[in-house]
Amino acid sequence: LVSVETHPRPSTVWVGDTPIGRDTVTLIAGPCAVETEDQTDAACRMAKEAGASILRGGAYKPRTSPYAFQGLGEAGLDILHGVSRDIGLPFVTEVVTPADVETVAAKADMLQVGARNMQNFQLLKEVGMAGKPVLLKRGLTATIDEWIMAAEYIAHTGNLQVVLCERGIRTYEPMTRNTLDVSAVPVAQSLTHLPVVVDPSHSGGKRDLVLPLTRAAIAAGADGIIVDVHPRPELALCDGPQALVRDDILPLRESVTRFAGAM
Ligand code: PEP
Repeated sequence: LVSVETHPRPSTVWVGDTPIGRDTVTLIAGPCAVETEDQTDAACRMAKEAGASILRGGAYKPRTSPYAFQGLGEAGLDILHGVSRDIGLPFVTEVVTPADVETVAAKADMLQVGARNMQNFQLLKEVGMAGKPVLLKRGLTATIDEWIMAAEYIAHTGNLQVVLCERGIRTYEPMTRNTLDVSAVPVAQSLTHLPVVVDPSHSGGKRDLVLPLTRAAIAAGADGIIVDVHPRPELALCDGPQALVRDDILPLRESVTRFAGAM
């Protein structure tokens, strides 16, 4: 269902009034995690200033350690929903368990399946049936084929509103958090009709790498970029080192508009 053999023309996925597809480079930005109302509001306003047309933020966080901040859950979802409606931009947020799909889908404009859950087949089915567009992150060690098959699970429920997200894969290289597989963008675009976006924040894991990786992703043909921003990353409860700060906002805006315009 997601193959170019079934649908030769690239699809456009709509999140509220925002398209994600081959004709544009859509910027999605916001805090990695919803921590407080003020932090979420500040981060989402930074995102809008950077040119984002979709907001992001995690209320349910899939953390490696059970002792790390797990997200505010439903309270975080409510904060993000309020900020999104206030700012006037739709938002994407992660859902980590099938039991939460209904709650999250009632408020979110797009549901995210995170890297750690890419092959949680029951979650893929539930998310597919929720009737909302889905952002499907590539698993940490998933091949492109496995990632596409995960998208097929969602499509199989009748929901073709799926966007693939390359977010770096695990390699032997410890200098970056993950290794951005830039080639996954044209490869996935040649095999599927789905839009493909890139997450340079979770790929590199370091603030200084986010803009270069953003430019590389757009040069490779990415249909969108999803980045973490934070007003005070030194206080962040999750992934502070990779969050863009105020000084990065204009350069981010310029990188996306200039590179997208050149493609
Ligand atoms: C995220 O986007 O908040 C996230 C946890 O990403 P990933 O699933 O790619 O690690």
